[in-house]
Amino acid sequence: MDNLTSIFRNKKLKLTPQRIAVYKYLQSTKEHPSAETIYKTLQQDYPTMSLATVYKALKTLVEVNLIQEINVGEGNFRYDGNVQPHSHIQCLNCGRVDDIDGVCFTALNDKIKNYVDYEVISNQVYFYGICKNCKKDIY
Ligand SMILES: [Zn+2]
Ligand SMILES: [Zn+2]
Repeated sequence: MDNLTSIFRNKKLKLTPQRIAVYKYLQSTKEHPSAETIYKTLQQDYPTMSLATVYKALKTLVEVNLIQEINVGEGNFRYDGNVQPHSHIQCLNCGRVDDIDGVCFTALNDKIKNYVDYEVISNQVYFYGICKNCKKDIY
């Protein structure tokens, strides 16, 4: 808890129970939940927390870079407690989102510099496929 206090203090964030709950939940999962999923999960412990409050807490935490927002397409926003650059793959059948570990796409930034007159700062690469569980059902 001490750690969390100093993390929030460094970002000049007030430690509200809602922000702490959202942040802790995202640190505890690798499932890249949507705001609705976060809301439903936290409702068990925080029955008075509204969806709007969850959205506000998410927005604040994204702004100070404690969590990241990923947009896997069609306004399908997911949230990730891991802010290190990494890529994602989404299942086209069930919608789950997984991390892609071990492949680094930051090297692409240098490559892209040869094609555009930009200072390239970051990139987002998303992959799409059929996950292990769905593969069993389909194939
Ligand atoms: Zn799937
Ligand atoms: Zn991730």
